[in-house]
Amino acid sequence: MFASGGREVNPFTIDRRFILSPLRRVSSYRSFAHTRRNVIGCFTMSPPSLDKLRILQYPSPILSRAAEPVEEFDDALRALASRMLALMREAKGVGLAAPQVGMGIRLFVCNPTGEEGDDIVCVNPTLTELTGAAEEEEGCLSIPGVTVNIRRATSAVLKRHNLEGHAITQHATDLVARIWQHEADHLDGRLILDQMSTADEIVNRRAIKQLKEQYQAEK
Ligand SMILES: [Zn+2]
Repeated sequence: MFASGGREVNPFTIDRRFILSPLRRVSSYRSFAHTRRNVIGCFTMSPPSLDKLRILQYPSPILSRAAEPVEEFDDALRALASRMLALMREAKGVGLAAPQVGMGIRLFVCNPTGEEGDDIVCVNPTLTELTGAAEEEEGCLSIPGVTVNIRRATSAVLKRHNLEGHAITQHATDLVARIWQHEADHLDGRLILDQMSTADEIVNRRAIKQLKEQYQAEK
């Protein structure tokens, strides 16, 4: 957990200050998906170049779709991961999943500390041995202005591939386990909005309405 003023602070909450930045939109990612069809599982997207990739916001439809497994571990995949890490860092986030940048593949990046050496790229991740439970407030870079109290396992084992295609198994607790679960949810098209309590719905109603209106206005 991040320390701030002598108490523990959930970085998902810290992110919230940064994800309130002005909305940005990129219209299409078709060409990247077209040139890497066997890597990019979702063929409905479309980008001229990785430089144009941006963090998409709710209710962009791709955020609610299950992503496809990565089949090739090549330079295109490594370039995408590198770009995602840069976007995550720029947004002061602790995790970013490929669907959030319009790519429907099972890949996420995360970094719980912000230190460059702590970057992790997770390809085709699966979570097992989810144990314990705790509720924490979470935000999402794709859903600015919204926070939801979410109960998650406090311990998890992550099986993933790295960018060279090597299988890796890791165990983590608390914040890191929470980030893994949040990002893995993205790969199954699940958002924090899907786990809102009635109280969360009331608190976030206005922000969600604004996001929907913004999306419609930019369509
Ligand atoms: Zn998220």
